[in-house]
Amino acid sequence: KTFAQLNLVPELMESIQQMKYTKPTPIQSEAIPYALEGKDIIGLAVTGSGKTAAFAIPILQALWESQSPYFGLVLAPTRELAYQIKETFDALGSSMGVRSVCIVGGMDMMDQARDLMRKPHIVVATPGRIMDHLEHTKGFSLKSLQYLVMDEADRLLDMDFGPALDKILKIIPTKRTTYLFSATMTNKIEKLQRASLQNPVRVAV
Ligand code: AMP
Repeated sequence: KTFAQLNLVPELMESIQQMKYTKPTPIQSEAIPYALEGKDIIGLAVTGSGKTAAFAIPILQALWESQSPYFGLVLAPTRELAYQIKETFDALGSSMGVRSVCIVGGMDMMDQARDLMRKPHIVVATPGRIMDHLEHTKGFSLKSLQYLVMDEADRLLDMDFGPALDKILKIIPTKRTTYLFSATMTNKIEKLQRASLQNPVRVAV
């Protein structure tokens, strides 16, 4: 498959070309067509496989049509990963005017609250800190959320973000699309899958 065969909007194709992605990686070829059909996805893929663009491309394609605030929430286990994911969204969304924020622990809550109130399209966050904002930042909610991504879900659980994840899942809309990416498939991941995804397609590379 080529990117041209995926029927992406021209703005997205332009960014993909600027980033010098000449053809989809295997996880992208597998996952993006299902994602564009609106399916929930479990992706078994490691860092380096191109998994970030595999979930960012379909979310940006959908965002292009709606342009609504708080469209996607991406949960990541570490600050470093969260910043990398934000950079990928910014680069792929550069021709579309996409606005994203990164909300991680160890940074000033007030600064983050101000960034969140500016109605970004994409929020990339660590689970504990975004939960803090959902509980304490007045006027901030994820009622309009359409996409949830749990990236490196095995590490999210290893780092004891399970309780924060459960709380977030209770607060956000149930009518949404969900992607879960993990390097390994364990019993805990299967339990998380049952609690958060609907009729998911499983893709593995
Ligand atoms: P990831 O697995 O998401 O951390 O991506 C690993 C690296 O692959 C990143 O530096 C991406 O910019 C790069 N990448 C992702 N998709 C492609 C592609 N289709 N062609 C070339 N490089 C890519």
